[in-house]
Amino acid sequence: MSIPPTKPLIRAMTREIGPAGLPPAPPLEATPEFLEELAAASQRLEAASPEEIIRFAVERYFPRLTMATAFGPEGCVILYYLAKVEPRTYVFNLDTGYQFKETLELRDQIATKYGIEVDMRQPELTVADYEALHGGPLYQTNPDQCCFDRKIKVLRESVGGMHAWMSGIRRDQSPDRAVSPIVGWDRKFSLVKISPLANWTKKDVWKLITEEDIPYNPLHDKGYPSIGCWPCTRSVMFGEDERAGRWSGTAKTECGLHTIEK
Ligand code: SF4
Repeated sequence: MSIPPTKPLIRAMTREIGPAGLPPAPPLEATPEFLEELAAASQRLEAASPEEIIRFAVERYFPRLTMATAFGPEGCVILYYLAKVEPRTYVFNLDTGYQFKETLELRDQIATKYGIEVDMRQPELTVADYEALHGGPLYQTNPDQCCFDRKIKVLRESVGGMHAWMSGIRRDQSPDRAVSPIVGWDRKFSLVKISPLANWTKKDVWKLITEEDIPYNPLHDKGYPSIGCWPCTRSVMFGEDERAGRWSGTAKTECGLHTIEK
């Protein structure tokens, strides 16, 4: 007589499979030879188009290739290319509970237009429980901890079993991002990191969005060039840096996802 599996067993098996539906796999090892191979690929792709770089990423790493998107203009551009190259790529959003409603609505527009269902990955605690635990909103007193709990931890869980991730960072966005290779090793998450838009400018991104009618967050038309969680994002004035509205008034410039470990 067969015994039906218990609910906890089913849950444990689901966790092993991982959010992208893949069986577990050991992480890639950053041997000197492997790092050399990545540096050579990065060099080769310096003059390649974003679509060519995404094709490289898919051929080399799919299905263990992923992307985290906050639905910024660059993320929407990569989703546009992914729809052509490999729409089954696992894409997720760090759904902190503090996102603008316009951002959440964009997820549905992307799904309708490109058939890519971005997975909304949430932290363990709801906003209400998290704020109750800390006696109020932590973004006011300790934004690094808040980003860690509601973004970085969730990202680590989401990339389990993955070997590479793509990001929409551009070198001209900030001094921190100016040194980003096209293909490199992300020590923080033990993943190959591919940045297909590293060599693009803001103008290049918006040109493609306009030409190809790519959906984008309407807040960009209201003075928000860079959009994260609503408590940590403000609109910027003419002449201000495009990321000046993020964690404005504090020394914080990144949530930790794209900080390069030295
Ligand atoms: S951006 Fe602000 S609200 Fe969002 S996780 Fe970081 S500190 Fe918290």
